Amino acid sequence: MKNDMIKLMDIYDVVIIGGGASGMMASIFAAQKGLKTLVLEHNEKLGKKLYITGKGRCNLTNDSSIENHLNNIVVNNKFMYSALNAFSAQDVMKFFTDNGLNIKTERGNRVFPASDKSSDVIKVLENCMRRYGVEVQLNTDVARVIKKDGYFNIYDKYDNIYTTASVVVATGGLSYPATGSTGYGYYLARDFGHKIVECKSALCPILVNEDISELNGLSLKNVVLNVEIDSKKFSSQGEMMFTYNSLTGPISLTLSSIINKLNYKNAKIYIDLKPALSYEKLDDKLCREIVTYAKKDYKNYLHTLLPKKLVDYFYMHSGIENKKMADINRQDREKIINSLKKFDFSIKSLDNVRVGIITSGGVDVKEINSKSCESKLVENLYFIGEVLDVDALTGGYNLQIAWSTAYLCANHLKG
Ligand SMILES: Cc1cc2nc3c(=O)[nH]c(=O)nc-3n(C[C@H](O)[C@H](O)[C@H](O)COP(=O)(O)OP(=O)(O)OC[C@H]3O[C@@H](n4cnc5c(N)ncnc54)[C@H](O)[C@@H]3O)c2cc1C
Repeated sequence: MKNDMIKLMDIYDVVIIGGGASGMMASIFAAQKGLKTLVLEHNEKLGKKLYITGKGRCNLTNDSSIENHLNNIVVNNKFMYSALNAFSAQDVMKFFTDNGLNIKTERGNRVFPASDKSSDVIKVLENCMRRYGVEVQLNTDVARVIKKDGYFNIYDKYDNIYTTASVVVATGGLSYPATGSTGYGYYLARDFGHKIVECKSALCPILVNEDISELNGLSLKNVVLNVEIDSKKFSSQGEMMFTYNSLTGPISLTLSSIINKLNYKNAKIYIDLKPALSYEKLDDKLCREIVTYAKKDYKNYLHTLLPKKLVDYFYMHSGIENKKMADINRQDREKIINSLKKFDFSIKSLDNVRVGIITSGGVDVKEINSKSCESKLVENLYFIGEVLDVDALTGGYNLQIAWSTAYLCANHLKG
């Protein structure tokens, strides 16, 4: 009898595997409603990925409508409808401000802590977890979960067992493995019969075939990046960067998430270096400057038109021999304008899933109840956050997915 009593005491209402964004948030709302809640986290601290979000500033949500959030979720946005309605961006902002975080909204409705420190977001979550009595066990690597007689037994890698009525899988994806994203949640899901949609990199650099090493570190502001695939065209305007072998920076990352589901091997990718000027306006400008800079070499003239680091590469790209500006003819002008409006590359591939900001793919949402995040195959088993096959563009939308699914699931958990 006494042993049975002790055993019952040790049974948790819910064990959350993963102490990242979604796991921490779910634990707060579960414990707040009186559930005996344990978070198992294999890192030495909570929220290791949260710490590096938004370049250490944590773009924690986007202060915009649910409709806008749905538009920025590129995979399975319909699945997110209930979760976003249950816990919207404005609810997230209220949650954080009510709990002592000063926030600010920047360009594109991106919300950050006023301190610009992601650690302040983590502190708020940790404080709430403490306040509601969430138990946390760090340095605990979950290796196996078994369901028996209506309860789950969770084994860590030292074979310690945690028994619980419900399990929430909040293990994240495969991106940035140093933050703890090992993809364990996918193994667990497969063990319980779930289908995993192939994991690909999202919000990642786009590798190109050309030797662009001389452009490494070049940043271009206010350009338009275009991708054409099978007569579909996708564009994004803003800032981008070059590495020695890839296109990266905000607008490249955005396009990578759109094209990763398509056959990008047939894609044409090109930059409009002068989006504010039409072909005609550029031609007028060139005609004027041919007169102004008549005695200048074409290659030297390019310095007036482009950032220094781009000049040599552009010069080769335009395919015009070096001559005096006075000798630039109509065909040359066409070539220059074409290079300015269609500065093109060929896509080799998207970069490895481990270097993408987000993992696209994961637990197939067809097998998850969108009103609770509970598995349709296994009662009391829940999946939240990035482990699900849902991903969004940059702007705070991915963390919103983590917060909203966490809240929805916690609300549904039974005592
Ligand atoms: C560089 C970078 C910048 C980003 N910036 C932003 C941003 O500014 N805004 C935004 O909206 N999104 C951003 N994101 C995306 C955002 O970080 C993720 O969407 C979010 O963290 C996902 O939350 P999650 O709880 O699902 O997973 P995670 O936050 O990755 O948490 C998963 C946790 O589970 C733990 N875990 C995994 N396996 C086990 C196991 N077997 N046992 C125990 N614990 C385990 C991990 O250690 C980890 O702590 C960024 C991502 C990166 C990589």
